[in-house]
Amino acid sequence: MPAAGTDPSTSITPRPQPVVPPIYQTVNFRLDETSYDDIRATGGLNEYWYSRFGNPTVDAAGAEIARLEGAEAGLMTSSGMAAIAVVLLTLLKAGDRMVAARELYGDTRDLLERDLRQLGITVDLVGAADLDGWRQAVGRAPVAVLYAESISNPQLRLLDVPALADLAHGAGARLIVDNTFATPLLIRPLEHGADVVIDSVTKFLNGHSDVTAGCISSGRAHIQQFQRRVITLGGSLDPHAAFLISRALCTVGLRLDRQMSTAARVAEFLTSRPDVTDVIYPGLPAYPQRELAARLLPAGRAGGMVTFVVQGGNQRGYDMMRRLRVLTEATSLGGVETLVSMPITSSQFNLSEKELTEAGIPPGMVRLSIGIEDPEDIISDLAQALDASLR
Ligand SMILES: *Cc1c(COP(=O)(O)O)cnc(C)c1O
Repeated sequence: MPAAGTDPSTSITPRPQPVVPPIYQTVNFRLDETSYDDIRATGGLNEYWYSRFGNPTVDAAGAEIARLEGAEAGLMTSSGMAAIAVVLLTLLKAGDRMVAARELYGDTRDLLERDLRQLGITVDLVGAADLDGWRQAVGRAPVAVLYAESISNPQLRLLDVPALADLAHGAGARLIVDNTFATPLLIRPLEHGADVVIDSVTKFLNGHSDVTAGCISSGRAHIQQFQRRVITLGGSLDPHAAFLISRALCTVGLRLDRQMSTAARVAEFLTSRPDVTDVIYPGLPAYPQRELAARLLPAGRAGGMVTFVVQGGNQRGYDMMRRLRVLTEATSLGGVETLVSMPITSSQFNLSEKELTEAGIPPGMVRLSIGIEDPEDIISDLAQALDASLR
């Protein structure tokens, strides 16, 4: 088959210019004598030849997410965890020390506490919002990496990114921020001094609950180092998944506008319920880090996640979830459908009772990931499920 654009049988569009970029669903690319010197000189990073090294469809998605994050470059990976593992295994070696937030995605915490420790890397954990704790931990011994999530799961604590970036750089360390819950539409950590940003693209950025992917956004030199790790560890993304992501990114602004405005309304509704003992949403006047929220978040926007605590503990929480008709009981977040889960049996299933208390997860805590349904449908479904579970 002739290469695209060189078919001599047609003179209509010798070089098609598609509005939607094509899917390069190919493992390899044709080489010629000019390719080999370049591959040898650059380690194969500068030329499309084998898709684990690079693929135009995958790179297009990475470039778009980097643009959203305000980064020089972006690198797609096969999952958010692949992105986190690649970054940490590149920036840390045996004998190094990292300081991380205690409030972390469960598998990230496992990676730190099991895999990295096993490789001889010291990991110290501090409360994400405890600036004095960070200062003390950083001052105690040499440190290579500070790691935290810009908005923590499920407590929705905000990270003081500018303060942490100063602290990291003063100690000769790098600040890595997992921006999955916030998304670059809410916070751009690189603009506040972070060195590397990771997104689980599986969540809000793809937003349709049909692709697992990650992205690393940073400066070009860092991204090249990470690219070498993706090549050797094998965490590259499939071109078709990348195509779906690029398609989803066309609507990420629209989706998040809707998700955030609905989340604010749902949070307000929940505060009006006497049988809901706590509502955590960074846009509420009662939000504990209100001053930081005003500094870091754009006016009127506070994300698409809402966490609340029902009176009656875990049993009431489960009972309430089972009575929902519009909302879907499932793990994960960021999709167009509203998802509900209880952290103790989903994102934090692996924590002990003591760790749950330390992490600020009381009995009866429910987490909502707001979708794009009619806000009234979401609120009335929650109202009927809360009412029904009271009886
Ligand atoms: C889901 C998630 C991850 C992991 O992403 P995957 O795409 O599932 O590998 C990492 N961090 C946070 C905050 C997440 O929510």
